[in-house]
Amino acid sequence: MYNYSDISLGKLEEDLKNTIEECKDFVSNIKSSENIDLSNFNELESAIYDLSGRIAFMGDVHPDEKIRDFGNEADSKIQNLELEIFKDQDLYEKFKEIETKNLDVESKTFYRDLEIDFKDAGHGLSDEKKDRLTEIEKKLIDLSISFSENIAKDKTEVMFLEEELKGLSQNELKNLKKNNDSFVITMAYPDINAVMENCSVRNTREIVWKAFNNRAVKENSPILEKAVQLRNEKALLFGFKTWAEYRLQNRMAKSPKNVASMYESLIPKLQKAAEVEKIELAIDNIEISDITPWDIRYFISKERSKVSSIENSELKKFFYIHDVKTEMFKVCEEVFDLHIKPESNETAWHEDVELWSLWEKNGQQLAYFYLDLYPREGKFTHAAVFDISSGGSSRQELPICSMVANFPNPNTGDGLMTFDEVETLFHEFGHVLHNGIGKSKYTRFVGANCEWDFVEAPSQIMEHWVWKVECMKRISTHIESGESLSEEICEKLNKSKNIGVSLLTLRQVSFGLADQHLHGENFKDSLLEIEHAAQKVTTITYPKDINHLAAFGHLLGGYDAAYYGYLWAEIIGDDLFSRFENEGVLSNSVGVDYKNKILKPGGTVPAENMVKDFLGRKWNDEAFLSQKNLSK
Ligand SMILES: [Zn+2]
Repeated sequence: MYNYSDISLGKLEEDLKNTIEECKDFVSNIKSSENIDLSNFNELESAIYDLSGRIAFMGDVHPDEKIRDFGNEADSKIQNLELEIFKDQDLYEKFKEIETKNLDVESKTFYRDLEIDFKDAGHGLSDEKKDRLTEIEKKLIDLSISFSENIAKDKTEVMFLEEELKGLSQNELKNLKKNNDSFVITMAYPDINAVMENCSVRNTREIVWKAFNNRAVKENSPILEKAVQLRNEKALLFGFKTWAEYRLQNRMAKSPKNVASMYESLIPKLQKAAEVEKIELAIDNIEISDITPWDIRYFISKERSKVSSIENSELKKFFYIHDVKTEMFKVCEEVFDLHIKPESNETAWHEDVELWSLWEKNGQQLAYFYLDLYPREGKFTHAAVFDISSGGSSRQELPICSMVANFPNPNTGDGLMTFDEVETLFHEFGHVLHNGIGKSKYTRFVGANCEWDFVEAPSQIMEHWVWKVECMKRISTHIESGESLSEEICEKLNKSKNIGVSLLTLRQVSFGLADQHLHGENFKDSLLEIEHAAQKVTTITYPKDINHLAAFGHLLGGYDAAYYGYLWAEIIGDDLFSRFENEGVLSNSVGVDYKNKILKPGGTVPAENMVKDFLGRKWNDEAFLSQKNLSK
């Protein structure tokens, strides 16, 4: 197991240099050897994948800024190395010598994918176009690294007096940094959530919302504009009209047209329901026509406390992070026939980071995973799961991934989670399971390395458990009394589940529309124009001068033209969950079937086929619509 606890700049520099050399040797060996097969290419990919997990990953999590900077620089070098490899003409010629007649299905898919990568690298283009392609790709790598760095480095803070934070609980106030008499709201999620959900002072919510949505705007707006231009130019080189068309050709959705029709069919249903929601939710004498984006979550949170007859701050007392996590593990162990064991965290990059191992129940070990759960300065600011190693090599036998999140820290604060945070924890743990369970002999298909518009389905599905009384009671334990949520409150909470769901989904739709717009035919429109056009769908009035696209990490974080995938995968995830709904929410037989048919194949089988195999039919949006009460 790689030891992150004693890394130094010197060690990382040496590792990077040596491994890059090693990879170059791999390439020369392949080129000079008589008998090559796909395993040679896999070995090369696995070496690069693990290198990224050892070094580039540190750019997002290491406590030392110098190491983070080095990790980010290394990220760019590693991506450039991959580019160079696929551009190598002699390597491509050698690749074409591989005999494909007797390959098994998985290997045929790997062969086809490699062929796509070689073609994407420019083989088949004129020399002039090939050179331009290289320039574009190198620039795009640098731009994407700077973009996420700028978001992480943004140190925006806003200060308020206690009376300006009315509505926050004593605990929430205690979790905030203080500066003399003022409370400091940083851009970390626990601070933002506390204000956006609970602060009854509208002006405070407005200031915080604007600060949060305008992060890195100066630095990142030109970066985003440049990236969008370069992507379009690259798509044209390959004969596609837009980046979205180029990008979606090998996804489940296949084309932007199919994405557009998903939105077209949902938007009218959502907008109709949103009009009713606004009337039901508006409080504090705020006019329906005057509802702003900084009112929505506050309204929803207030209405939820009313319907569930429990205040946010009281509800949080049932969700102490370690208790929730322990019970979540138990539920997963039972449903999926797994075993999860604590391991010493001596190899971790920070003392707060935990290490766990994942096993088949009464069987072999499958993987390791880290949990890096609490905010730190300079750390990745969202919640996500990072692949660290695909396993299967002499250096690292089993796959490793890490959840990286920003939940309330029990070591410095109370460690009490909001219900949304509990949902996020389950969501991210879905990615961890997918990462740990997905098997393939090829690194490229291990774990969650599947079609990108499917990758969120195994995490979206996990969110359902949080709401099911059977599970909700189990994961809740009052911090003082030790009691679970009563059946009555569980049911009331469920009644509160869909409060504001159409307004929230429309916000997500607006992100997806902006992303498609940025990567479609009208990519030259100004960022503000694109932002405003997309915001129209929400039926809420947005301020004219805030450009949240600059802080929208997904746009340069691999989700370009692909943000729709969240909704796409949610629709599929809901459909997958319908089997649990019908056959037993915590049914072990459905759980094991799900593990075998959806998680285990990793990326070896097209998602469309996996889903069909599990459901016994093609997926549809009925479960999604009925979940959100939009069926009529
Ligand atoms: Zn996710």
